[in-house]
Amino acid sequence: MTDQGNILVLVEMDQDKVSDLSLEMLGCALQLAGKNDKGDVIAVVFGLGFGTLGKDLISFGANKVILFEDKLCLPYQADAWLPDMAAIAKETKASLILMGHNSTGGDLAPRLAFQLKCGIATSCEKIIIEGAKTFLTRTCYGGKAREVLSFDNEVAIATIRPKSQTPITRDIERRGGIETKPLSIKENDVRVNVVERKHVESDGPKLENASIIVAGGGGLGGPKGFEIAADLAGVLGGAVGASRVACDQGWCPPGYQIGLSGKTVAPELYIAIGISGASHHIAGCANAKNIVTINNDSDAPMFNFSRYGAIGDYEELLPALTKQIAKLKE
Ligand SMILES: Cc1cc2nc3c(=O)[nH]c(=O)nc-3n(C[C@H](O)[C@H](O)[C@H](O)COP(=O)(O)OP(=O)(O)OC[C@H]3O[C@@H](n4cnc5c(N)ncnc54)[C@H](O)[C@@H]3O)c2cc1C
Repeated sequence: MTDQGNILVLVEMDQDKVSDLSLEMLGCALQLAGKNDKGDVIAVVFGLGFGTLGKDLISFGANKVILFEDKLCLPYQADAWLPDMAAIAKETKASLILMGHNSTGGDLAPRLAFQLKCGIATSCEKIIIEGAKTFLTRTCYGGKAREVLSFDNEVAIATIRPKSQTPITRDIERRGGIETKPLSIKENDVRVNVVERKHVESDGPKLENASIIVAGGGGLGGPKGFEIAADLAGVLGGAVGASRVACDQGWCPPGYQIGLSGKTVAPELYIAIGISGASHHIAGCANAKNIVTINNDSDAPMFNFSRYGAIGDYEELLPALTKQIAKLKE
């Protein structure tokens, strides 16, 4: 880290709550700031109607909270957020800027890097600061290897992969400052108009937060297979996920996709059914505590990542398993 030392975290909201990924980033920032014994953790939020959010973010580790409150902030627009994000980065002398590796961070981070003329590493899983240097680790070669990046610039931007950091827990004893600001831009400066936004409702727990996931792949052969997988998820109280093949085929919604270009999950139990175990898929589920594979090919690579496995046709194994579990739960 440079003499600058402050760490900026772009906090996003999930409905009325601080998003889980933001809590992970705050946890990461606080740990880095603590280890290096200098620099503040500064949380930046763009939105409207913040209520007690400033105080909440201090209890979640921010030394300072900057709230941009304006109706133009929502929904996310690069034109609305970028100028003030860049100004705050300069004003606060941030040396590290953390954003979520999601649609907002993926869009805003490169724009900000261009504005600040600094380095950017996307989809980071680990950050270490040694002296004046920040080292950012991320997956490369389709999940087969990890690379460590560092930059010569004084500022580094990183987008953080969900479920890669330990989320911070609330501590109401923490103290810090809160500043509320208007956006510096005017309505006409926002060139994009969001016409419609659809919220996909799903039954059961959210995939990203589920402690049990039943994931289906190409081996399920069609939507019917996903109904069978959903039955198992139902008795287990889990969520249904999928490989990219299954999503691309339209057997399940695209939001089910787990992997390098899908969601990253870290459940207690991950049941992979008819999934071969390509590195692109493993990149999204490798942090699961226990992986169970059901596959009719004993050589499927997925077995190499699994604690338990069953070799056979899912159409025979799955209904029997679901029935047994349902019986045990009676
Ligand atoms: C840049 C890039 C990004 C990618 N991102 C992702 C990603 O985010 N997520 C992802 O999943 N993939 C991703 N992929 C695709 C990835 O490389 C694989 O193609 C994909 O994961 C394969 O899916 P699958 O294992 O479900 O299907 P398949 O490769 O078709 O494998 C099906 C498996 O099911 C088994 N099977 C077949 N019939 C049965 C049966 N009746 N009962 C039990 N088992 C059966 C087979 O033995 C096989 O192992 C990406 C690829 C690229 C190039």
